[in-house]
Amino acid sequence: MQTSHRHHWTEVSRHPTSEGVVRYQRCACGRWHMVATPLVADPIGVSATVPVTPRP
Ligand SMILES: [Zn+2]
Repeated sequence: MQTSHRHHWTEVSRHPTSEGVVRYQRCACGRWHMVATPLVADPIGVSATVPVTPRP
């Protein structure tokens, strides 16, 4: 049995699909983690991911 290991996910790539964004993350131990983020609008608490460009 493997001992519990706290994975530290590092995003490797992301792929936009028709249903959302699929992100592939990898841990230092070699494990992969796939995260699917649906494009369905969250009714509450939506935070835009638009980067804020600071003005000089
Ligand atoms: Zn790990």
